[in-house]
Amino acid sequence: MINIVLFGKPGAGKGTQAEFLKIKYNLIHISTGDLFRNNITEKTTLGILAKSYMDKGNLVPDQVTIDMLEAEVDKNPQAKGFIFDGFPRTESQAKSLDAFLTRKDIKINFMLALEADDNELVKRLLNRGKSSGRIDDQDETKIRNRFKEYNKKTSPLKTYYKNQNKFYSINGIGTIDQITGRLTKLIDSL
Ligand code: AMP
Repeated sequence: MINIVLFGKPGAGKGTQAEFLKIKYNLIHISTGDLFRNNITEKTTLGILAKSYMDKGNLVPDQVTIDMLEAEVDKNPQAKGFIFDGFPRTESQAKSLDAFLTRKDIKINFMLALEADDNELVKRLLNRGKSSGRIDDQDETKIRNRFKEYNKKTSPLKTYYKNQNKFYSINGIGTIDQITGRLTKLIDSL
């Protein structure tokens, strides 16, 4: 089994790259952002709760996010592995994920971090906001707040995975193909 945490700020290209990696390595792609957005579309209780955080660019509380993620993993007992995209985003989520996977006798193999600078990311997100209609991508103040949340709560996870020798940084600037190439070359070498 290969279990990958795909890491990076909003706009770094996690979702785009996950679409390629899941096919190449036959993995299940779980994006917590997508799961929340599906819940919002379906107007579930979880969706209504999540929306109040997401629209402001804040993180959704840990426990609901963890419960949702675990339910999604449990729906795929035959999986050859998972790509976790946008999860974990806090140390508490990372610890819960480790505990949950350990109970299943599986583990995270590596964290692949797509790195790009904030100004490039703001440009990408504002562009995405025009085509996707995502409210959190349309306003630079909300985007900058997501970066603030990332710097405060999510960035420390690099150290968490570095301490387990699982952290790898990838240059996230370039064409989609170039970045897929960098990721697959790295994965194949691990
Ligand atoms: P994303 O699609 O990954 O950019 O996520 C969009 C929004 O969903 C984030 O700004 C958060 O409000 C929420 N979200 C997604 N994943 C998580 C997570 N692991 N923990 C908390 N909130 C999350």
